[in-house]
Amino acid sequence: MNIRLFRPSVGKEELENIQDSFERSWIGLGPKVNQFEKEWADFVGAELAIGLNSATAALHLAVSAFAFPEGKKVLLPSLTFAATATAVLYNRLIPVFVDSDPLTLGMDMNDLRAKYDEDCVAVMPVHYTGHPVPMDELMEWANEKNLKVIEDCAHTTGADYKGKSLGTWGHIGCYSFEEKKLMTTGDGGMIVTNEPEILKNTKAQRWVGIDKDNWKTAQSYVSANKDAMHWFYEINVLGYKYNMNDLAASIGLAQLKKLPAMNAHRSAIIRHYMDGIADIPQIEPLLPFEPEQYVYQMFGIRVDARDDLMIHLKSKGIATGCHYTPMTCQPLFSEWAGSCAYIEEEYNRFITLPLHAELTFDEVDYIIEHLRLFYS
Ligand SMILES: *Cc1c(COP(=O)(O)O)cnc(C)c1O
Repeated sequence: MNIRLFRPSVGKEELENIQDSFERSWIGLGPKVNQFEKEWADFVGAELAIGLNSATAALHLAVSAFAFPEGKKVLLPSLTFAATATAVLYNRLIPVFVDSDPLTLGMDMNDLRAKYDEDCVAVMPVHYTGHPVPMDELMEWANEKNLKVIEDCAHTTGADYKGKSLGTWGHIGCYSFEEKKLMTTGDGGMIVTNEPEILKNTKAQRWVGIDKDNWKTAQSYVSANKDAMHWFYEINVLGYKYNMNDLAASIGLAQLKKLPAMNAHRSAIIRHYMDGIADIPQIEPLLPFEPEQYVYQMFGIRVDARDDLMIHLKSKGIATGCHYTPMTCQPLFSEWAGSCAYIEEEYNRFITLPLHAELTFDEVDYIIEHLRLFYS
């Protein structure tokens, strides 16, 4: 047995779309990116979606969209991937780390309120594993405090929370198509909003400051447009090289079609895990998963003597992980060490178990059997 923790699910549909891009010989920022953006906006119910090369880039540009004065503060959970926190540093802002809710592991709303002060300008909720932060409650509070809200949706794909897609509750939503996520483009990300004015500079920022669809320029050139200024562009903003390309978008368009089926399978697998571990008293699920309601990128458990179990599972060919070491335990953020006491201790009990769209029920049975054997 050799069971991977995560695994992308790609095949002939993705290859056919890539072939199509090869045949038109346009593989950079082009029409496929445009099409993927439109389909993604429709899928999540946003007015505007912009394709990027990662969610890390999306989070960077999301924070920069508001041009906050240097030195202001941004609230975010300690329990997240590095990219949520580095987006704050890239923008010369100060992170304020929030502890986790002991039950759901999303941001603890009481700690959030307690850590707020008048220098705070934004809050970045992370729907950890895909479990929603209570966005109705968060938005009400954030609006009261005049905070901008940037949702990190790297672990979800527009699942509905109280009738509205996650990623569209806040001012901006950011999604990841990295290979371990719910759907992939190899690497890739998307930034969305229902207030397009907020992202008015983002298309320029993703492409070294040039706000011009270069594939459209090329098209008008070859179709004998006599406009002598066809070569012209202006740089008005500081940009980066963050664009998605047509090869990634080719994969993404195929993945988006498969997404409902992949998500349904992940949900069924999580239900199978939950039923299987229910009678093992030493194991509790990481959080109150509701796989029939939400979409989860990860599944995990909490146990004591975590490392021994991880080593046992490894010896049986079962890959595991820990998501995450909280940011306030990382050397880069040592200045904030101790500021999120609950999660800084509790994460030592977390184990992430294999979950992907091609994991079989037999493999899950094998994993559950070895969890059971370890404790018997
Ligand atoms: C993966 C991840 C990111 C970064 O996504 P990339 O597309 O790899 O840049 C950001 N936030 C969270 C919570 C993630 O899990």
